[in-house]
Amino acid sequence: MPVAWSSFYAERTAGMYSSEIRDILHLTEKPDIISLAGGLPAPELFPVEEFRRAFEWVLSHEGATALQYGPTEGYVPLKQVLAERMAKFGIQSSPDNILITSGSQQALDLLGKLFLNPGDAIVVENPSYLGALQAFNCYQARYVIVPMDENGMRTDVLDEILASQRVKFVYALPNFQNPSGRTMSLERRQHLVRIAEKYGVPIVEDDPYGELRYEGEHLPSLKSLDRSGNVIYLGTFSKILAPGFRLGWVVAPPEVFRWLVLAKQPADLHTCTASQRAFYHVAKDGFLDRHVARIRAVYHERRDTMLRAMERHFPPEVRWTKAEGGLFVWVMLPEGVDSRELLVEAVQEKVAFVPGSAFHADGSGHNTMRLNFSNSTPAQLEEAIERLGRVIRRFLGRVAVPSP
Ligand code: PMP
Repeated sequence: MPVAWSSFYAERTAGMYSSEIRDILHLTEKPDIISLAGGLPAPELFPVEEFRRAFEWVLSHEGATALQYGPTEGYVPLKQVLAERMAKFGIQSSPDNILITSGSQQALDLLGKLFLNPGDAIVVENPSYLGALQAFNCYQARYVIVPMDENGMRTDVLDEILASQRVKFVYALPNFQNPSGRTMSLERRQHLVRIAEKYGVPIVEDDPYGELRYEGEHLPSLKSLDRSGNVIYLGTFSKILAPGFRLGWVVAPPEVFRWLVLAKQPADLHTCTASQRAFYHVAKDGFLDRHVARIRAVYHERRDTMLRAMERHFPPEVRWTKAEGGLFVWVMLPEGVDSRELLVEAVQEKVAFVPGSAFHADGSGHNTMRLNFSNSTPAQLEEAIERLGRVIRRFLGRVAVPSP
């Protein structure tokens, strides 16, 4: 008798699904489509030569150790470099409370494993990072959503929420949020840290884009503002060096650190030993600063190209965020428009984006979409936005938008 597989799966699989959007986006892998859908870094910026040299050094000087099992906590010299780098941004840490993870995506999964019983509530911004929602879905999280405005999470609303209910943590993306490109203002950051203190609630601060600022002043991370040890901070090399090696890190209070190590051990024992050693060599002597400056210059130009093209080609009833950094611009179409329908037409015109509803834990946001500017050249961005502008105009001309 063949196994009826679906009757064997755990209940948690109910929250694990591939969205219909993913299916449409499969179409966008064709070479003649310009995809603004992914969140990929520009591959031409990967420091291939530096990595080649670093791996060569590691394999010729410490080859056997680099190919051996290693400690779950991570390679101490790499953690030392990270601690020094974060100190420049006001984050106090030491190798003792930095856990190297297989990308910050793993950190999100470990946090779910550590904190969430089925049905536990966590606070997420609306919209929020899809990969985090997917990670927390596996642990059957219940989402309490907090709206955002141009200054990021509405901390006044959060204050009211926490006055009346217990949540396991607040998941926050203060810098150039994925997907909305918005940045949390300094006042909101201070308020959020005060609220966490007032209610004794943990904050998970996810910060993959903090160094990729193209205009304005750097704002302090929640971790650097926190005096009570309430913030768990997630960092990653994915956007400032390369995502392929899967290297990220968590800075956690010592108590939580111990548990995260116990959560990581059964997941993968440790993150790749050879990569950690190679990253140490690439990151240790100032190369990272020069490299980040180069990435910033390239992405700055791409963002500006996209924003200028949108001014020219998008109709006046469409609004968008002017991301100060990161990889994304967020577009708001008139209420009542469904960007998933727009995507079908956009793909016919050979341009793709991610419909915004995917990022909303409450299923709202049908009129929004996320556009990526890091993974296309300026010429491709011009062309893509012109195509998209054409599709939007045609679509809005045809679709009767209900009055609010
Ligand atoms: N958090 C956010 C907000 C992200 O945008 C991403 C990647 N797109 C991640 C976490 C995961 O990054 P990684 O696992 O590559 O470090």
